[in-house]
Amino acid sequence: MTTTRDYYEILGVSKDASQDEIKKAYRKLAMKYHPDKSDDPDAEEKFKEISEAYGVLSDPDKRAQYDKFGHSGIDSRYTEEDIFGSADFGDFGFGDIFDMFFGGGGRRRSGPSRGSDLRYDLSITLEDAAFGLNTEIDVPRAEKCGECEGTGAKDGKVKNCPTCHGRGQITQTRSTPLGRFMTTSICSTCYGQGQVAETPCPSCSGTGKVKRTAKVPVKVPPGSYDGLRLKVSGEGEQGSPGAPPGDLYIVLHVKPHDTFERVGDDIACEIPITITQAALGTTITVPTLYGNVNMKVPSETQTNTIFRLKDKGMPHLNGRGHGDQHVKVIVKTPTNLTSEQKRILQELDETLAGENESKARKGDKSIFDKVKGAFEV
Ligand SMILES: [Zn+2]
Ligand SMILES: [Zn+2]
Repeated sequence: MTTTRDYYEILGVSKDASQDEIKKAYRKLAMKYHPDKSDDPDAEEKFKEISEAYGVLSDPDKRAQYDKFGHSGIDSRYTEEDIFGSADFGDFGFGDIFDMFFGGGGRRRSGPSRGSDLRYDLSITLEDAAFGLNTEIDVPRAEKCGECEGTGAKDGKVKNCPTCHGRGQITQTRSTPLGRFMTTSICSTCYGQGQVAETPCPSCSGTGKVKRTAKVPVKVPPGSYDGLRLKVSGEGEQGSPGAPPGDLYIVLHVKPHDTFERVGDDIACEIPITITQAALGTTITVPTLYGNVNMKVPSETQTNTIFRLKDKGMPHLNGRGHGDQHVKVIVKTPTNLTSEQKRILQELDETLAGENESKARKGDKSIFDKVKGAFEV
């Protein structure tokens, strides 16, 4: 049975009704007009009508088709494929049963199937991640057969499907605990198209698809990070005739960097300095993502001291501003000393000897303070 009344009108909802509103309206009407519950002589017809309307409007793809082309866009492809024969519904509420019949059932229908999504793993450098990258990738995928324009038919010649006789669907009557239902399902021979190839296209063996390696442009945004997934709509595999293609997902892998380590949007690096630079202070050259910068190291700097270069980290993804760069200075003990260098250090050592002693005492005192502090609690 196919209705020609407006589906929105049947369910009493507006054209821009949400899925929730549609579902609510449907449930209310389904309860009212269920043939086993209603005394209305037209209940069965009405019930079918609202079920059909709901079947279309609850499916975003079908609803879009319907909005665009009206009833001809739908081709009365409303189906309820799978009604469970003799299951015991005693434990379920009425609503649950409707969900099983119409809500859940909707997703189990077979129809022209959308193309598969594809995944592509793209390796990039930290600099690419920071500044963004426009590139092109080779994606092996199923594409529309150019010979038959994706129809799968040689010379475009088609005939009515022998299984469904051109209707695109199979209708069956089934008994359920709620009464008898006319159920229709999409014809699996023609995927609901109603037509099949007279002779299968020799290039694609009638599938409408061919394997090809496509060049797909990719835009990596500045601030990208390892594991980020970029979706490129419609660049997945070709669907079966009449169905949309899948999407392409690009998963980014940021290669480890020789100099920099990334922590969130901050960058960290280590720079060695000599003991004299550490003691006397100096200006060192520090590499950043944005080129070399000069950084002042004050006198009497201890090893492992971390300095911050503001805004020299990664740009924030889809936002303004940058992270920082953290520069840890490592004081290196000199090696391979000449005898002259050793002599100078020897002299220095004699002047420093007293200082080390005082430090040792200070250390002892602080330990004593800690112990004392513990007893005072
Ligand atoms: Zn072909
Ligand atoms: Zn068919």
